[in-house]
Amino acid sequence: MRYSKPNRKIVIAVDGFSSCGKSTFAKMVAARLGYIFIDTGAMYRAVTLYAIENGCVENGILNEERLVASLDDIRIDFRFNPDRGASDIYVNGQWVEGKIRTITVSNLVSSVSAIGQVRERLVAMQQEMGREKGVVMDGRDIGTVVFPNAELKIFMTADPEVRAERRYRELLAKGEEVSRQEIIENIRQRDHLDQSRAISPLRKADDAIVLDNGGMSLEEEMEWFDKVFDSLA
Ligand code: C5P
Repeated sequence: MRYSKPNRKIVIAVDGFSSCGKSTFAKMVAARLGYIFIDTGAMYRAVTLYAIENGCVENGILNEERLVASLDDIRIDFRFNPDRGASDIYVNGQWVEGKIRTITVSNLVSSVSAIGQVRERLVAMQQEMGREKGVVMDGRDIGTVVFPNAELKIFMTADPEVRAERRYRELLAKGEEVSRQEIIENIRQRDHLDQSRAISPLRKADDAIVLDNGGMSLEEEMEWFDKVFDSLA
């Protein structure tokens, strides 16, 4: 084990703005500690994909009632993918990891995640997944709602332009045709909706430590984490 402290397993909550590199950071931290990494954004995205593919979206507008009525039909699970070093997400047994990060899903996900019944179900699942501790969970409300007693809370942020550029390159690499402008707009829109929604809005927990990774390399982020982790009581 590379760390001496703490020797008990803990919950690490990683919250923050869209496209800050939360998942990359959380995945690396989990690998370092031998913890499980859980990407809760993937869960909201999977429900959004289900809505799109099952007649709950018409002309780009979400039919909330229809989606809420379908919630019992949506079964989400994660299965470890050794190639990615992380778990892939499945909906009703179907692999959807490759379909949940398109701009179409990104443009609708904040509307889906604002629905109270959706949040209730996903939060209950997330709490169950972290019950044994030894998890790094990333999202928007992990340190405030899902695990308010998490032993370590990190709040990530970076300039919107920097975040948009990263997301743009990621999508280009996957062969998706999008413009920079479309991505900047999506990020600003999601930041706004995530912060202003009535239920569990995105906010920094009072006891969270801020990581602004705008000008940082992944190596520097890990050095930062090592210091924070080693200073835990
Ligand atoms: O993290 P990611 O950008 O994939 O999350 C997609 C969306 O899911 C966010 O913009 C937000 O609306 C929603 N979300 C949330 N609560 C979480 C994780 C994600 O509301 N814990």
